[in-house]
Amino acid sequence: MSLGKVVPIAGFPVHEATPQDLAMHLLSVLREHEKISLLFANSNFVVKCKKLLNRMANDSVLIVNDGIGIDIVAKCLHGRAFKANLNGTDFTPYLFRESSRPLRVYMLGAHPEIVEKAAAYVERELGQVVVGYCDGYSGLRDPHIVERINRSEAEVLLVALGNPLQEEWILNHRDALNAGVVTGVGALFDFWAGSKPRAPEFIQKIRMEWLFRLYHEPRRLMRRYTVDMLVFFAHCLKYRKDSNSRVSGSRSQAGF
Ligand code: UDP
Repeated sequence: MSLGKVVPIAGFPVHEATPQDLAMHLLSVLREHEKISLLFANSNFVVKCKKLLNRMANDSVLIVNDGIGIDIVAKCLHGRAFKANLNGTDFTPYLFRESSRPLRVYMLGAHPEIVEKAAAYVERELGQVVVGYCDGYSGLRDPHIVERINRSEAEVLLVALGNPLQEEWILNHRDALNAGVVTGVGALFDFWAGSKPRAPEFIQKIRMEWLFRLYHEPRRLMRRYTVDMLVFFAHCLKYRKDSNSRVSGSRSQAGF
């Protein structure tokens, strides 16, 4: 089973999908005992993961769109936005709900007390089976971490290390990991643990969640939402210009 159109954004093959398409796809990957890495591409991902681009050109890596920045670029370069917005924070609970049975989940990342609280939340509120968890600092340095995850017989591995650490870690260890679905989920454990506030729904609806996060963590996120945003748009435009001059006459590689 495969997903719909692929839209090139700064060279990244971004798959267009609804949450429902994506959940069905991943559940079928689990049923068929296949392996996939799911990555959410937002503007920060594009800027921070540029150097990993070639390693992501792989059938087992599935990249989907996350956030308003990617949509603006899709509109400017390909004439229309993506049909749905996907992000690990909303999509992960959705995937759990769509599964007809509780999934075996391993959680890797965040500070020790955060991942512990988030694991309790996943069991209590989301009804999944957390087969193990490990923090993203000293825990991540355990040379046996991959064996531990495999021994847990996790089907879904959530990796919450931020960009580009989580993508790098996933690409480095994917072959050795047995979990069917491995995905990078950013600050998700902090939200589940309640250590970072999630924007109210109306702010999410008007797609201003980034502004809410900036308000709460100005020192850490100021660069991401100012300088890096400009870098992101410039990079997308430059990439488009360069690929147009390589393939002269081609309007949209995706037929988007
Ligand atoms: N993190 C980690 N190890 C590191 C760096 C970060 O476990 O070496 C965790 C951090 O504690 C946080 C998550 O990675 O829980 C990523 O947070 P961020 O806010 O950067 O995610 P994003 O904004 O990309 O969703």
